[in-house]
Amino acid sequence: MATDLQIAVRRVSSVNPATGEVLRELECASEKEVLAVVARARAAQVEWAALGVRKRIEVLREFQRRLHGKKSEIAEAITREAGKPVAEALTTEVLVALDVARFLVENAYRLLRDEPLPHGNLATKLKRGWLVREPYGVVGIISPWNYPFSIPATEALAALVAGNTVVLKPSEFTSLVALELESLLRAAGVSKAVFQVVVGDGATGAALLHSRIDKLIFTGSVATGKGIAVAAAERLLPVVLELGGKDPMLVLDDADVDVASSAAVWGAFVNAGQTCLSVERCYVHRSLYESFLKACVEKTKKLRVGNGRDRETDVGPMIHERQLRIVQSHVDDAVARGARVLAGGSRFPELGQNFYKPTVLADLTHEMRIMREETFGPVLPVAAFENDEEAVQLANDSEFGLAASVWTRDAARGERLARSIQAGTVMVNDVVSCFGISEAPHGGVKSSGVGRAHGRFGLEEMVRLKYLDSDLMPGMKKVWWYGYGASFARQMEGFLDMQFARGLGNRLSGAMRAAGVLRRKRL
Ligand code: NAD
Repeated sequence: MATDLQIAVRRVSSVNPATGEVLRELECASEKEVLAVVARARAAQVEWAALGVRKRIEVLREFQRRLHGKKSEIAEAITREAGKPVAEALTTEVLVALDVARFLVENAYRLLRDEPLPHGNLATKLKRGWLVREPYGVVGIISPWNYPFSIPATEALAALVAGNTVVLKPSEFTSLVALELESLLRAAGVSKAVFQVVVGDGATGAALLHSRIDKLIFTGSVATGKGIAVAAAERLLPVVLELGGKDPMLVLDDADVDVASSAAVWGAFVNAGQTCLSVERCYVHRSLYESFLKACVEKTKKLRVGNGRDRETDVGPMIHERQLRIVQSHVDDAVARGARVLAGGSRFPELGQNFYKPTVLADLTHEMRIMREETFGPVLPVAAFENDEEAVQLANDSEFGLAASVWTRDAARGERLARSIQAGTVMVNDVVSCFGISEAPHGGVKSSGVGRAHGRFGLEEMVRLKYLDSDLMPGMKKVWWYGYGASFARQMEGFLDMQFARGLGNRLSGAMRAAGVLRRKRL
């Protein structure tokens, strides 16, 4: 009881990272409140599921219409709380959510309906089977601050259309954006108990994890994700874990340096580098190394850093000072071990405490922390390689495996190389934009996570698969039931030969030996 009272009075502050202005103080949901919210979600789920997919699709269509109508307002709210330029809030958040809604409106009915499952085994031909997709019940979503709208919206829309009710625990740094999502869904016709937000910090997230949810979709750091996996294992709670990345970019010897350097600069600095799919390591063929670095430095120096609300801004602030300290420590470690700073490399105190200069580093090695740990800041670390084999070996020398990119004028060569890279997604001649492809599965391998979001496979995560089998001869006792007798084993050998022996003669002989099986007396 005492613990519960303590949790009840905890607060989180929503702060504008560009100015430090406190936008709002919000009370964290206590454990008791989380349990009550989940109980309400459970009670509401039966009716929501009974509504049927077509009606739920109509709700999504309405959500999409309303989101489109409020696109600029939502983008401004994202910028205010997460710092990114408004243009990025429109493209990487609002557009992504609109398109995910489009994908689900167009495809959810087809992807969720019962699917006939024909049988190949002769012994089971007299049966009909279907795959039936049933909602889990209550889906919990725990989300991060870096894409505070598009990540929870993507997951919630898929969960809802599949017939689940949803409880979202947003990041403590971006509660207000989550409340915007809630009010949009509410206005679209999603009732209060069907989609609920519980504001709070890690303890509120832990309360949701330990509540009676039926599945958890977690997006966040590897450390938190691993803790969640351990707790979930205790009660076999199914989880999707969308975790961190250290995405490599491989610039092959035939790449277009101008295009690839622009991609590297955007891919490393978009959202101030706080993107799970951002370019965290860049490997360039030795023959292009110096010209590529020169182009990156020139382009980086042209970037305007500032408040994301200023329409001229390219790179906004980082979310908080703690994140900035991690970035600085990675840069300092790299420099101490011999890396060259070609641009940036320090804070931007004249802009505020959360601004870091877009940084280009050269001559990186895998002994440096910046090539092994997630930096999550505006840093582009570049290293040279001698041949394609070495490039792949460097790309795969990581505990992470979220995404990667290969840059070449020869698409076939790029696609070949892409197959050897250990990652959930590999793009040839583009970066990051895979997140905006609503059809494409998003997720990682190795420490980058388990399961998928987006598209068909993201929708599959929101349903339990049931196999439904119906016998076509209900009045017939099955030939494999009791009453074996002396000849059954020989008949079965014949049946196996009829199906699997090599050569027509052997199969025919098997069929003759099996023939008696149908006349066999069964118990
Ligand atoms: P985080 O792990 O600190 O927090 C994520 C969420 O978990 C927050 O809502 C937080 O309150 C909650 N949480 C913290 N402790 C918890 C606990 N013990 N139990 C339950 N919930 C708890 O991550 P972050 O700093 O918010 O986000 C940045 C990280 O997210 C980066 O590592 C980034 O790569 C990753 N990320 C991954 C993807 C992806 O799709 N793979 C997308 C975006 C961000």
